[in-house]
Amino acid sequence: DDRISRISSSIRVIPDFPKPGILFQDITTLLLDPKAFKDTIDLFVERYKDKNINVVAGVEARGFIFGPPIALAIGAKFVPMRKPKKLPGEVISEEYSLEYGTDKMEMHVGAVQPGERAIIVDDLIATGGTLNAAIRLLERVEVTVVECACVIELPELKGRDKLGNKPLFVLVSSA
Ligand code: 5GP
Repeated sequence: DDRISRISSSIRVIPDFPKPGILFQDITTLLLDPKAFKDTIDLFVERYKDKNINVVAGVEARGFIFGPPIALAIGAKFVPMRKPKKLPGEVISEEYSLEYGTDKMEMHVGAVQPGERAIIVDDLIATGGTLNAAIRLLERVEVTVVECACVIELPELKGRDKLGNKPLFVLVSSA
């Protein structure tokens, strides 16, 4: 698919960011290429438009870039999954582990209803800890997580294995 190769080559790789030894996949260069950005959204929309998805849950921060255009195109609501203390209303939260220490993800109470069908969108899956927390948040309120969707997967980190039985759809795999 030449859409995939255009998307793949529009992602910039920056060595030693944010720390020495990390090869950071920078999606801001994908956003600078309107065709690559549109193809990215189109590929997700083609996959999810006829799957009765009610909720697109986007993970802060880059899930806020890719999630909303997908939600608009498939007629779903967009629900932000945020870092702690950002959401003004009542929240539920889930902890997850980072390389050093833990972090939390929060969602507004009442944003989703039991029985709704969700996809979770982020730019990249590394260890899978972030998506695992997002799945737990939605399942706590009895939402069906149909699939997780990312632009990029770092397969060596085996993040897929942290998603239990949830399918993961990615556009680009990166070494
Ligand atoms: P995980 O929880 O799967 O280890 O990490 C995934 C989260 O960290 C995602 O929210 C993602 O945005 C961020 N992340 C980790 N590494 C990278 C990277 O190389 N590039 C980008 N764009 N995000 C990353």
